Amino acid sequence: MIRLHVPHDLAAGAALDLDEGQSRYLAAVMRQAVGDELLVFNGRDGEWRARVTAVGKRAVRLSAEGLERPQAVGPDLDLVIALVKRARLETIVEKATELGARRVLTVTTERTNADHTRVDRLQAIAVEAAEQTGRLDVPEVTAPVKLERLIAHWPADRRLLFCDEAGDARPVLEALRDAPAAPWAMLIGPEGGFSPAERSTLRALDYAVPATLGPRILRADTAAISALTLWQAALGDWRA
Ligand code: SAH
Repeated sequence: MIRLHVPHDLAAGAALDLDEGQSRYLAAVMRQAVGDELLVFNGRDGEWRARVTAVGKRAVRLSAEGLERPQAVGPDLDLVIALVKRARLETIVEKATELGARRVLTVTTERTNADHTRVDRLQAIAVEAAEQTGRLDVPEVTAPVKLERLIAHWPADRRLLFCDEAGDARPVLEALRDAPAAPWAMLIGPEGGFSPAERSTLRALDYAVPATLGPRILRADTAAISALTLWQAALGDWRA
């Protein structure tokens, strides 16, 4: 069944006038007609069954009919990712959404060679991945800030899994063993890795948990997927 993320409040009988993009998608691409059923969610009110009540090329109207699943949120896990090449960053946002990160925070570090990214584009990828993966919420993607600045405002109770490619940290599952469940974040560096100064700053933070992802250097996308997977299995919602 088609699943759409919508901005509207959802309640029984609510009329949902879709924007032009979603209307075109339903009418022209998916050939929806009056009476067809689909699922909608807004990240707040759970997932609803909705029915198509009017179809124009650029204006489709739905009516919310019944609650299918009540709102739920996954574990409190942020992915902090240094800016990397666009295609890789897009993969990371898609996979982080599938793997249940609650937010994706982009950062710049000493060795990142870009300081901006199309956050709106990344956010759209997160919406699409959430629609496809059955999530009831969409991870928020935030605009890049300096790693230094993020650390300066870090909440004391949030642990930070610092994925350190230097190789002398503990293996990740050992580092996560007996750790408290949430809130957490994990940090993945840029193509150039972390500078020695950044590594020593990060290692000195009392909420940081340095970890290695094995003896090979991984690309940032592989590192993010691996770390998210292991975290979900060790501390997140992949457990029984
Ligand atoms: N150019 C760097 C590698 C950067 S890889 C170098 O040659 O050292 C990009 C990011 O992925 C790293 O900053 C780290 O956060 C993560 N990463 C890659 N391989 C890793 C590993 N084996 N263990 C832990 N983190 C790793």
